[in-house]
Amino acid sequence: MPNYIKPLREEKVFKDPVHNYVHVQDRTIWSLINTAEFQRLRRIRQLGTTYLTFHGAEHSRFSHSLGVYEITRRIISQFERNNYPDWPVEENMVAMCAALLHDLGHGPFSHSIEEAFEMDHEEWTCKIILGDTDVNRVLREVSADLPDRVASVIRKDYEKEIVVNLITSPLDADRMDYLLRDAYFTGVDYGTIDIDRILRMLRPYNGRIVVKESGMHAVEDYLMSRYQMYWQVYFHPVTRSSEIILRQILRRAGELYREGYAFAFLPQPLPGLFRNDLTVKEYLKLDEALIQTVFMQWTDEKDPILSELCCRFLHRRLYKYVEVDSIDMEMIDRIRESFGKAGLHPEYDFEIDFPTDLPYDVFRPDGAKRENRIMLLGKQDKLREISEVSDIIRSISGLHRGKYHLYYPHHKVGAIHSQLPADIAEIFPISAD
Ligand code: ZN
Repeated sequence: MPNYIKPLREEKVFKDPVHNYVHVQDRTIWSLINTAEFQRLRRIRQLGTTYLTFHGAEHSRFSHSLGVYEITRRIISQFERNNYPDWPVEENMVAMCAALLHDLGHGPFSHSIEEAFEMDHEEWTCKIILGDTDVNRVLREVSADLPDRVASVIRKDYEKEIVVNLITSPLDADRMDYLLRDAYFTGVDYGTIDIDRILRMLRPYNGRIVVKESGMHAVEDYLMSRYQMYWQVYFHPVTRSSEIILRQILRRAGELYREGYAFAFLPQPLPGLFRNDLTVKEYLKLDEALIQTVFMQWTDEKDPILSELCCRFLHRRLYKYVEVDSIDMEMIDRIRESFGKAGLHPEYDFEIDFPTDLPYDVFRPDGAKRENRIMLLGKQDKLREISEVSDIIRSISGLHRGKYHLYYPHHKVGAIHSQLPADIAEIFPISAD
């Protein structure tokens, strides 16, 4: 397979707060960035509803995707400069395209929308790459099989595992970029890792990417930062509250649609979203600007549940939560029943959440698949899994920390608090604010 690199006459740069500059030297990469499908990522936030918790978190999937491309480009260029024989240089183009396009199929508020409609952004990414789109045309111009190759890297079944490793592994370009970027935009102090040092320590070895053993402390630092970010940002209970409300809006709207409710406002392509039969062209019309406009209109809908939920989301009247160590199904049923008797909605006015149900994986080397391990390359080419060598990693890996959170609209529960059975009333503290 040829290298496919078509240099631009003059390098293009994007100013980036995380990597300082993103460098584009190739014509195909430049054309991909300028497609309508890639530009759509400007209208999808990287962290969904997290901006309701950390107001700085307004950064987009566009900036993250450029960042993942830039990290991949730097890794490849380091491999090339050092002439490492284990890196297949003919894969440079496939790797850079896959890095740039890996999140192309994300929808608005994707984790919530995926949960509500059982969608999968990775599947949509592949559909966009393989479908009748500008991205597909740009890739095909390079070579007829390039769209398939890029989609296969994203599906993680590409023939060369080392290329998949660059984009999806515990130490991949995707995770390194979002860790740094999410830390920067939320303003928390945890995600500041020495990325240049980590990148310098990566080695292509025997068909996969490994880390030189002397880079272990930089990797420890990275995994610790990631651990902190999970608990301080990604699992933040207030963000979960906003996700719950968003999911409830989508669930309610879907129920109403199936019942034949006459919406005062239901623009395309929402009907297809509710029916689960969106075409690629329709899917690409979904973005966060549209969803928020729809929610604004729905604050006036006749259905009181839908309009209340939309007000809650837009005006940030989130549910409060209480933390409990454990809870059984019987108790959950009793809570719902007594809420219902007191005039609240048993489904919409109460939700239960356990943080590890989230679509993020904390580093767990035990029993992990080959692709989920970080391997250190020591003297005499000896490979060891990082938690065999590092005490710090051993102590944080596989840790499950998490409690159940019960979410509820505290003013509404406050109003009926005296009607609840004493043991249930006790669970839900009611304060004045
Ligand atoms: Zn990503």
